[in-house]
Amino acid sequence: MSAPGTALISGGSRGIGRAAALRLADDGYDISIGYRSDEEAAAQLAKRLDESGVRCLTHRLDVADPQAVRDWVGRTEGELGPITVAVASAGITRDRPMLMMSDQDWQEVIDTNLDGVAHVCRAALFPMVKRKAGTIITLSSVSGVLGNPGQGNYSASKAGIIGLTRALAKEAGRFGIRANAVAPGMIETDMTAVLTADQRDRTLGAVPLGRFGTAEEVAEAIAFLASDRAAYITGAVLQIDGGIVL
Ligand code: NAD
Repeated sequence: MSAPGTALISGGSRGIGRAAALRLADDGYDISIGYRSDEEAAAQLAKRLDESGVRCLTHRLDVADPQAVRDWVGRTEGELGPITVAVASAGITRDRPMLMMSDQDWQEVIDTNLDGVAHVCRAALFPMVKRKAGTIITLSSVSGVLGNPGQGNYSASKAGIIGLTRALAKEAGRFGIRANAVAPGMIETDMTAVLTADQRDRTLGAVPLGRFGTAEEVAEAIAFLASDRAAYITGAVLQIDGGIVL
């Protein structure tokens, strides 16, 4: 079987992005990890991948900067070869009710989560269209599907990602390129580690499966969507949420 190519993963140093990097490496991809600040986490992941014989690069950038994203994509293609999968996982929260939200908290979340995902999708799409091959996977959230009080900025960004992903699926399908979103519920990562015990209990009460998910469970769905097993799936929003939206 031929090598599956290179997987580019924004937010790949931690949480869901990190789990996706490890899972896609298991499937034989070379791995390009983009991250914002946690150099130590990125270096540790690169070491682990290196030691298991996976070709990998790490690249520090702010996904909100479109030129920085284009530079990362160019470097990845130059050093590792054609990007066949792009996973846009970088994301942040700045939770506050809308009445109390600062302009800065609104803007930072939109810049990173919505603009950042758009920059990654656009930059990766160019070489994919030229080759008429590739697939894009974006990270939305149940907050983007349902709207979540205290997360107006985050919910708006994650709903925007669904619209963007579906538009991309329609635009790029004729080039043989698929675009899908995953919409996780509550997943055990640094992002949810900040919740108070009370917030966790209240959330868990709404999850039919009665627990938070793991980053590995989301990564499994990402690996499926990246693979030929999902060859006829595009424009989908795959909820991985223990049933929280039911
Ligand atoms: P995390 O906080 O553990 O990791 C976030 C990653 O994004 C890190 O690698 C960080 O370096 C990177 N990042 C943040 N801002 C960046 C920027 N401006 N430029 C480049 N990289 C940046 O988060 P996570 O829990 O793994 O979440 C991953 C994605 O999944 C996010 O988009 C998040 O919104 C989404 N999501 C998470 C959950 C959850 O419960 N954890 C639920 C639904 C959706």
